[in-house]
Amino acid sequence: MNASAEKKVQISSIAETWMEVRAQGLYCKPADCYIDPVEPVGRAIITHGHADHARSGHGEVFATPETIAIMRTRYYTNDDTHETALAYDARTDLGGGVTLWFASAGHILGSAQAVLEYNGQRVVAAGDFKRHPDPTCAPFEVVPCDVFITEATFALPVFQHPPLESEVDKLMRSMRALPGRTHIVGVYALGKCQRVMKTLRLAGYAHPFYLHGALKRLTELYESYGQDFGAWELVSEIPRADKGRFRGKLVLCPPAQINDRWSRRFADPLPTVASGWMQIRARARQKRAEMALVVSDHADWGDLIRTCKETGAPHVWITHGRVEALEYALRREGINAKGLNLIGRDEGVE
Ligand SMILES: [Zn+2]
Repeated sequence: MNASAEKKVQISSIAETWMEVRAQGLYCKPADCYIDPVEPVGRAIITHGHADHARSGHGEVFATPETIAIMRTRYYTNDDTHETALAYDARTDLGGGVTLWFASAGHILGSAQAVLEYNGQRVVAAGDFKRHPDPTCAPFEVVPCDVFITEATFALPVFQHPPLESEVDKLMRSMRALPGRTHIVGVYALGKCQRVMKTLRLAGYAHPFYLHGALKRLTELYESYGQDFGAWELVSEIPRADKGRFRGKLVLCPPAQINDRWSRRFADPLPTVASGWMQIRARARQKRAEMALVVSDHADWGDLIRTCKETGAPHVWITHGRVEALEYALRREGINAKGLNLIGRDEGVE
């Protein structure tokens, strides 16, 4: 074994003495703290506000101010949780010799990579992340580290996400070509909805957006952080008789609503889904969508591998998704990759 290989093995075994996988999630032993735990715990670091990462009931939460605001809006039923809000790059002492700071993850508003430093080592838990530009959140920051912990949701070569601009262009062309129809786009309420709206505005879409009520609170939360989506109105506030109002316009709703009773109020609806999974035709058909836009808030295959390499980490731990495919590809690049078999992450939610 040469000296550098020896060093790599040593680093790995040391990191494994202070980071481990438990039933509740990834655990930092000296700080007695979990990252995105799936059950209520004493101390939790939360990377971002999506439901499969941010849950309620923890004794103490460390997160960015935006993530804490999202958690308050969505999940808290009481305010017993002690919160520590940490802006990107601000350091805090977790105790036990561990320092925590957050670097932006480019996934949704407030999304962060948790950077843990202990004994001269740095472990970066990326949470969910993407590298494509997103006008609604800070871009992903590459943090050099000893161990990089990544997801693998879209870790297959078939996943190469197109630029969002081209998907939005497709949508706008369809609206111009079919002015008598109401385009109903299914989007997740946190992140996807706001990113699609903002990208449409940047592309010159000037009409008000018509929103399902489920998208209201998080859109307002984004606005409170300085995002501007132009004019939008709630569908529920427009009289039922005024069907013609939506013709040739854009309605946004949660994915489940594009084909249900709710969508029948619109003139000649054209159900559309916006998801990273839309690259797989069968999934688009399953949703009974007439149009599918590939819109993903996760890194695609190329960006996953590029990112792991850019961190310079000799070790990559893979939390969930297409673990084996990524593990294999990274090992071919000379990186010690291994799956952690974390449970409780929701594949469908982006
Ligand atoms: Zn997420």
